[in-house]
Amino acid sequence: MMTSRFQYIRPRSLKDALNFLDAHGPHTSILAGGTDLMISIRRGALTPKFVMDVSRLEELRVAEKMDGHLSVGAALTYTEIMNDPTIVELAPVLALASSFVGSLQIRNVGTLGGNISNASPASDAVTALMVHDAQVEVLSAKTSRMVPLNEFITSPYRTTLKPGELITRLLLETFEKNYRFTFQRIARRRALSIARINLAAVGQIDSRGLVSDFRLSVGSITPQPARMTRAEDILKGVLPDRNLVMETAKKVSQEMVSRSGVRPSTEYKRPAVEGLVIKSLTKIFLE
Ligand SMILES: Cc1cc2nc3c(=O)[nH]c(=O)nc-3n(C[C@H](O)[C@H](O)[C@H](O)COP(=O)(O)OP(=O)(O)OC[C@H]3O[C@@H](n4cnc5c(N)ncnc54)[C@H](O)[C@@H]3O)c2cc1C
Repeated sequence: MMTSRFQYIRPRSLKDALNFLDAHGPHTSILAGGTDLMISIRRGALTPKFVMDVSRLEELRVAEKMDGHLSVGAALTYTEIMNDPTIVELAPVLALASSFVGSLQIRNVGTLGGNISNASPASDAVTALMVHDAQVEVLSAKTSRMVPLNEFITSPYRTTLKPGELITRLLLETFEKNYRFTFQRIARRRALSIARINLAAVGQIDSRGLVSDFRLSVGSITPQPARMTRAEDILKGVLPDRNLVMETAKKVSQEMVSRSGVRPSTEYKRPAVEGLVIKSLTKIFLE
């Protein structure tokens, strides 16, 4: 194991943080909970000159309703997300997904900003954020951009974040009226296991019993968590029944294979993902 010597910096404000990144961005690693970053530093995969701790920046620790959306600060931890009444009410899929992450210790320090920046294909939060059509706010000392999360993450462990930039918050579409939702995952065990497959789904049924909104995303089985839009189309605007749920499940497994190719694990994953879709959609539309 290699160790790295770095200087620890804790800015007092967002402005100070952005100014520091402006001067030292290429030599600085941003630290939030440290659950991913410290592993990379200990392994010697990263050797930053500075480590800048943003975990206590108040500007990154707020969840609030904003122009019909929900703004969630990048430095909120999973535990805070699970217990924030505004997030639980308006972004229940994110709150539920957070409860599946790692262990209590990981949830107490791990943050949304760190998770998105890490861009793991198995991220639980990203799968949930996809059904919320989340956008990422990225600031530098001189620029500000709002990027759809599915464009921000470009491939496994890669994003469009540049040296000098900081993720400050996520902007989420909210589900207020008669939405039913679920987050499911298959992992080796309940705690401390990365998901083999995870799935987030929300559905809304109108007064005639037709599906007026339906969003489904999966993670771990595609290069990055993604919405399964072709599968979503099967149920939109129709009366849901068991046959359509089975058809949707088949379409999701076909999309998985078309995005990831046939692998040794496909034989196991195909029925597993179909089973997970059927279980989720039965809960949302048929119970
Ligand atoms: C034992 C264990 C179990 C885990 N289980 C799960 C699990 O079940 N599900 C899951 O999804 N993940 C899991 N993880 C992964 C990890 O906990 C999450 O990805 C976590 O959300 C990372 O957040 P952090 O605050 O710890 O990030 P850090 O480790 O502090 O940072 C991670 C990366 O993000 C960058 N970064 C952090 N904040 C910002 C910001 N605001 N702007 C720009 N860049 C930033 C850092 O520079 C670094 O590159 C697990 C990790 C461990 C060690």
